[in-house]
Amino acid sequence: MRVSPSVRAVQVPDENPMHPQVTTIYIVGHDQVMSIDSGEALERYQWMLRGYLAATEQAELALAAITHHHMDHSGNLKWIRDVYKADVIVHRDGPPLLEGMLPEQGVNTVDEGKVIDLGGGARVQVLATPGHSIDSVCYYLEKEGVLFTGDTLLGSTTTTVWDLKSYMASLERLLTLPNLGVLCPGHGPLIHDPRERIQQYIDHRNMRERQIVEALAAGGEHTSWDIMLKLYPDIDTRLRRAANNNVEVHLRKLRDDGRLQVYDGTPKEKSAEERMKAEEHARERNEVKDKAKQYEKEDRMAALFAQENPPTEQWEVMPKYELVGTTKE
Ligand SMILES: [Zn+2]
Repeated sequence: MRVSPSVRAVQVPDENPMHPQVTTIYIVGHDQVMSIDSGEALERYQWMLRGYLAATEQAELALAAITHHHMDHSGNLKWIRDVYKADVIVHRDGPPLLEGMLPEQGVNTVDEGKVIDLGGGARVQVLATPGHSIDSVCYYLEKEGVLFTGDTLLGSTTTTVWDLKSYMASLERLLTLPNLGVLCPGHGPLIHDPRERIQQYIDHRNMRERQIVEALAAGGEHTSWDIMLKLYPDIDTRLRRAANNNVEVHLRKLRDDGRLQVYDGTPKEKSAEERMKAEEHARERNEVKDKAKQYEKEDRMAALFAQENPPTEQWEVMPKYELVGTTKE
């Protein structure tokens, strides 16, 4: 899908409850082509990207950037490096968080202010926007008004936040960008009213903070889970932990602002024996799961091979057909 003169969106269907609808890999530039984000390390994403590039792109993929280290954005960096020999671009703080996800060669780190010149007037600016994660960046193609937001802003839902104070500062900063026309989020549809949406995100966070303060206003001690149940009575139960994390993020900010008395919890202690048992159990399960994955892959390959070849497993000699009356005597 074309977004602007220099930007295309490869939207891949996604069923993760955290970000329903689609996860998107963006393609930017003409002379030099750069991808932004790479999806989860699933064949689905690789097939979509490969198919799209083969069908519509003239130039090879030269650069593969990500908006942050989370695996649904960085999952295919190694694969892209292997297949396209593309150089990888990550934020300066990314590499320690990307252990095992980066190729051995061709990794470039960038920081606030860096401009990636893709030729033909397509200049992509790196904006450090920590908050969703410590290494979150947005990429801005100012000339065309296109901002790639990763998970800093999403197409249809609110996002999770690691540090609320820096997140709010990042949102305020994005509001000041000149020529902002469209937001290209990591998940969900494009956003064509960027300033309104950014302002909504800010208002939403302020509202949550007020709600939490109200929930605590009656006095007494509360866990984050108590507050979560009060704030989100109808939430999809698969998202409760995420909501609880969100409440904790707000509580940390309120604590840092000096507004909360905190009573430290007591972590559960596990004996060495219990830990060993749990590790052993996890290892066994992973072995079985890996084996199942391997069998599934073999089945898919076998099915593909079967499509390409005659059914010799079924026939010693296959039936033959000849038109009546053409037999040579
Ligand atoms: Zn993320």
